[in-house]
Amino acid sequence: MRTFLSEELKETPEGREADQILRSCVHCGFCNATCPTYLLLGDERDGPRGRIYLIKEMLENDTASRETQLHLDRCLTCRACETTCPSGVAYNRLLEIGRAAVESRVERPLLERVQREAILRTVPEPGRFRLLLSLARLFRPLLSPALKKTIPASLPAGEAWPSARHPRKVLLLEGCVQSVSAPRINLAAARVLDRLGIQALPAAGCCGALSHHLSREEQTLTTVRGNIDRWWPAIESGAEALVLTASGCAPTVIDYGRLLKHDPEYAGKAEQLASMALDISTFLERQDLDLIRPAQNDGPLIAFHSPCTLQHGLKRAGSVEAMLTRLGFKLAMVPDAHLCCGSAGSYSILQKDLSRRLLQQKLKCLENEQPAVIATANIGCLMHLQSGTDRSVKHWIELLA
Ligand code: SF4
Ligand code: SF4
Repeated sequence: MRTFLSEELKETPEGREADQILRSCVHCGFCNATCPTYLLLGDERDGPRGRIYLIKEMLENDTASRETQLHLDRCLTCRACETTCPSGVAYNRLLEIGRAAVESRVERPLLERVQREAILRTVPEPGRFRLLLSLARLFRPLLSPALKKTIPASLPAGEAWPSARHPRKVLLLEGCVQSVSAPRINLAAARVLDRLGIQALPAAGCCGALSHHLSREEQTLTTVRGNIDRWWPAIESGAEALVLTASGCAPTVIDYGRLLKHDPEYAGKAEQLASMALDISTFLERQDLDLIRPAQNDGPLIAFHSPCTLQHGLKRAGSVEAMLTRLGFKLAMVPDAHLCCGSAGSYSILQKDLSRRLLQQKLKCLENEQPAVIATANIGCLMHLQSGTDRSVKHWIELLA
């Protein structure tokens, strides 16, 4: 695609990067076929090719409108388009640049600003999120049935973390929402690792994905620097990896090196940390799984939902399914497994209608064979799926544990 970005813009790192990405798109439109928002709305501007055009126009003419903002907001950042694109267009990175450019050019209405601020001040802060959850429990009878299902009847009691010490150690990211609403997930991971002779050291903190996706770069970088400072002593004392049980965190942590590459104090550490970050499925694949293989596995039928961050962000489609099958679990066939469930970070709050429509579609596919359990690999998807079904929704590591 030919581009006409101003020389001034092309002199900036973002301008150069955007120009390169735009030029790699050949405008074929294959990506539209797997874009959930294009499939739902049928509007070219709600598909990847249209959004690429909107970003191109904005950068070339230095103008943006509420309309541009609306169509970029409606993108789930699911990255299904990247998986489909035959030309390898780095759509997600272009969208990050595009969203930041819109934010600096178009002021949002007051209600949207307040809503985003409220999300950023509560969700990534475990203390505040815990308080919010306690209040929600108090007013449980007044909540919608969907919301009720995502709120545990009582806050999960702290169960014991494995106490055995092993020479092999890894950091295990606790996360923000997950550490409050489903600490059982990391506990399950710690137990599985313990049985493999690996000690899990809890790494407190939010990965920064939420603020990053809402184009709050300064807040994201502050979060990342804080994480590095907190986790560094464990890395110096020999932790061999940073293991992540929420696939939604992994693409952001793996990007730490790029995010801080211009920071002389943190660039090296950020790069090293990023290179040590592994989704738990990747980490377990490299271990001797015979140590945890059940002699006989006659558990119930499981429908696995592969989060977009796992299959499109980390390019690990089918990996968890293959591991569960190898370990003897029975998996249901899930049609349209490449499509997003509509959770997508803060999307389920900010784009409620589209998010619910995607959820209904996804649950229909997941429940196709009447599974007893739905499993997934990301806390956001887990809570979102649970809001629409009475079936139990778990993280797959809980099944292993
Ligand atoms: S992003 Fe890829 S698939 Fe989509 S129009 Fe461009 S080249 Fe084609
Ligand atoms: S990231 Fe997902 S929602 Fe956004 S354009 Fe690509 S396929 Fe569509």
